[in-house]
Amino acid sequence: MDAIVIGAGVVGLAVARALALGGREVVVLEAEDTIGSHTSSRNSEVIHAGIYYPRGSLKARLCVEGRERLYRYCAEHGVPHARCGKLIVAADAAQKAELEAIHARAHANGVSDVVRIAVAQALSMEPEIACAAALHSPSTGIIDSHAFMLALLGDAEARGAMLALRSPVQRGHVCDDGRIELEVGGADPMRLAARTVVNCAGLVAPRVARAIEGFPSAKVPGMWFAKGNYYALTGRAPFKRLVYPVPEPGGLGVHVTLDLAGQARFGPDVEWIDAIDYSVDPRRAERFYAAVRRYWPGLRDGALIPGYAGIRPKITPPGEPAADFVIQGAREHGVAGLVNLFAIESPGLTASLALAEEVVRMA
Ligand SMILES: Cc1cc2nc3c(=O)[nH]c(=O)nc-3n(C[C@H](O)[C@H](O)[C@H](O)COP(=O)(O)OP(=O)(O)OC[C@H]3O[C@@H](n4cnc5c(N)ncnc54)[C@H](O)[C@@H]3O)c2cc1C
Repeated sequence: MDAIVIGAGVVGLAVARALALGGREVVVLEAEDTIGSHTSSRNSEVIHAGIYYPRGSLKARLCVEGRERLYRYCAEHGVPHARCGKLIVAADAAQKAELEAIHARAHANGVSDVVRIAVAQALSMEPEIACAAALHSPSTGIIDSHAFMLALLGDAEARGAMLALRSPVQRGHVCDDGRIELEVGGADPMRLAARTVVNCAGLVAPRVARAIEGFPSAKVPGMWFAKGNYYALTGRAPFKRLVYPVPEPGGLGVHVTLDLAGQARFGPDVEWIDAIDYSVDPRRAERFYAAVRRYWPGLRDGALIPGYAGIRPKITPPGEPAADFVIQGAREHGVAGLVNLFAIESPGLTASLALAEEVVRMA
């Protein structure tokens, strides 16, 4: 083969599309029986503006670049989306300094449309919220992530890319001629060798890299999972835009997200776990009521029901700051033709088209 992409989440599909548009022959190997069945379909479906990330980080740059590409792509390909905007709210005077820091970081990242608004203005935009101070981000939006992935796959296939479902990559090795050979399991096990292999295996990308003989294990980061649970709101949402509290360690805080039909869900919280497990423990409801009522005091008892969960692919343990996106090519690890993507947590959906361009440059 010419190029193999491991994993058909949003990032693998964006990479496959970009390689195929560049004239490469591409096969995507996906372990599951459908595309996007892990993190890419278990997130907030928010098009992030690029506000939170440290200045100069890949997250900051690729979120801002990716966001504009994504809006253009959605408009051109008929992918359902809405530039609905969001409020970030300080619940009390003590959080005002954090809100100021977020405002400064947004501007340092080039997201200059984020503005401070008066409490009265925030209440005129979202009458049900309570806050001591607020920021408005007009370029934040929402997207139908599954429609986006189908559009990426369609583009890639139109340029000759092939998707192989139920094709888990089990191990591999670096051949003497420089190609990388992969052993693929499933009902029809096979071996495939390629000049270029891009590891977009999401949560288990470190494990996949470690299973390639000849790859320096010192370059494989650790692997931790931080689950984010969501609760759905029964009945109509009183919000027109997204509402976020100030972030919590490990995540962005339990926020209101809306789907394109106007239904609201709250999440994700942060629950460190040892193995992939998407169940939502109903006992977490109490914490959700408490977190949401800090900015929406009108939340009724019994209005929340367990929704779904996604898992953040962490490469740093609990208590340490979140790592930046890692895009590792030959310059970093010495194996020509292999590109690894690690720690592609939020804003990976927003940044996917920009991440794909970076990978194509390396590959
Ligand atoms: C709770 C939560 C909320 C988020 N909210 C947002 C948001 O609002 N906006 C935003 O921009 N980003 C958000 N993100 C981040 C975003 O969802 C991810 O960055 C993105 O989905 C990652 O895509 P991926 O393709 O790297 O991973 P995945 O979607 O996990 O895809 C990896 C694929 O690799 C496959 N795979 C694994 N191992 C193998 C193997 N051995 N062989 C073959 N295939 C394999 C898996 O089956 C899977 O399909 C959120 C993330 C989480 C966890």
